[in-house]
Amino acid sequence: MNELHADVVVAGAGPTGLMLAAELRPAGVDAVVVERLSERTGLSKALNLQPRRAEVLDLRGLLPRAEERAFATVQEGHFAAVPISYAGWDTRHPYQLGIPQAQVEELLEERFAELGGKVLRGHELVGLSQDAAGVRVVTPELVLSCRYLVGCDGGRSTVRKLLDVPFEGENGTGYGVVADVVVDHVPDRAAGTWTSMRGMVQSDGATGFCGLIPLAEPLLYRLTFGDRARRPATFGSPVTEAEVHAAFAANYGPASIKEIRRLSRFSDASRLAARYRVGRVLLAGDAAHIHFPAGGQGLNLGVQDAANLGWKLAAALNGFDDVLDTYEPNGAPSGPPCSRTSRPRTASSRKAAPAAPCARSSPPSPSCPRCPTTCPAWSPGSPSAIPHPRTPIPSPARASPTSASPAAPGPAPSSTPATTSCSPRRGQICRACPRFRAHCPQRTSQRCRSPPAALVRPDGHFAWLPVT
Ligand SMILES: Cc1cc2nc3c(=O)[nH]c(=O)nc-3n(C[C@H](O)[C@H](O)[C@H](O)COP(=O)(O)OP(=O)(O)OC[C@H]3O[C@@H](n4cnc5c(N)ncnc54)[C@H](O)[C@@H]3O)c2cc1C
Repeated sequence: MNELHADVVVAGAGPTGLMLAAELRPAGVDAVVVERLSERTGLSKALNLQPRRAEVLDLRGLLPRAEERAFATVQEGHFAAVPISYAGWDTRHPYQLGIPQAQVEELLEERFAELGGKVLRGHELVGLSQDAAGVRVVTPELVLSCRYLVGCDGGRSTVRKLLDVPFEGENGTGYGVVADVVVDHVPDRAAGTWTSMRGMVQSDGATGFCGLIPLAEPLLYRLTFGDRARRPATFGSPVTEAEVHAAFAANYGPASIKEIRRLSRFSDASRLAARYRVGRVLLAGDAAHIHFPAGGQGLNLGVQDAANLGWKLAAALNGFDDVLDTYEPNGAPSGPPCSRTSRPRTASSRKAAPAAPCARSSPPSPSCPRCPTTCPAWSPGSPSAIPHPRTPIPSPARASPTSASPAAPGPAPSSTPATTSCSPRRGQICRACPRFRAHCPQRTSQRCRSPPAALVRPDGHFAWLPVT
């Protein structure tokens, strides 16, 4: 049996694994990806990059490649079918990019290859063992020894199962079907191009839903339909073409489907790994968390996990092992924001959209009783969301360098001043730095009740020190 060595083995060449691998290489980390499929499928579940992920790709100089492959710029998203405008968000990218998951994977793999990395396809991780010095990864044809292993192997993660980490949550009660269809003409209730999620998701007034999103080719649409509360007896069996024709006719007739390109079912299960790390083995992306895909966030979260974990692993390999302790579900016992909000998203969209009680667009209001956890104006998918009076951490997106100066990840010092001209002390904010001043209620004062920013993460986040 062949034996290989690497600093880090990544299991799974989905968006999370490829992003992580591409993050590790610039930091000098020898990363190898093992992928069980012998070739890419070209199929796409996800269709979008949210604003924060556009920022993350921008940091790495990859946004132009995503833009070249994108087929839409979407100015409005939604929360439980209530439209959310990105206008006014504190970001250089106040939009979702419409881009198929397959294209995101292709550009990340291309980047990894340019950096000298290789995806070992047709190699399925089937076993692992670890000790204090490293991890032994087993596939039917290979043994790889490495210092860290990251399971980016999807919702049914073999790595997570081998670690015996509980995947806590709910199986869900509803279902959805996704079908890419070519239609004979643009249906009356559908858009010709994808610029907004407004009106894209229809509700039957109870728990049924359907949506039609225009894709890259004329008359090619992503049809989604299902029921958030009731699963049919056929839930476990493959979707039939008859089901798709019937759902389309009920919602979008008299237009009709000429061709069905892909079909699959999905569930509203919502689960979170009890731990993201066991010794030298970590989990990221769907391997660590799954939820109903309403709002388009799973791929986005995986890319974000990878951007977070990449520099931490690089730091750990350079002697800063402690930083890996911070790689848990955003440090929050109840999991990442998306897991906390996928239920409200689903629950509130059970009402006839858009009749959710809080239907304002941004900015959110401190007087709103639903802010920030369920207010549609709050963005659960974007940790870089608009600053909110009840949000403890102000917008980290403000720290993003421009694409002209992408910040490569590297061994991270434990604390880096936010700017060279700014060295705030606890309870103070630096007059010299306009970014800090923007967060200071007194604007020009050196004494400020806001906590000081004292760390810039290589993935473009501020950390704000607690005032004790
Ligand atoms: C219908 C639908 C629509 C969606 N739409 C969106 C959207 O619009 N926006 C969004 O952000 N998200 C969306 N998602 C979610 C998104 O597709 C997932 O969150 C995303 O694919 C997760 O990426 P990942 O890399 O973590 O896992 P995956 O994409 O599942 O990749 C895992 C990889 O690991 C490989 N693998 C598995 N086991 C092994 C093993 N033992 N050894 C080696 N390799 C292995 C697999 O072959 C695969 O290539 C949608 C999901 C669904 C179901």
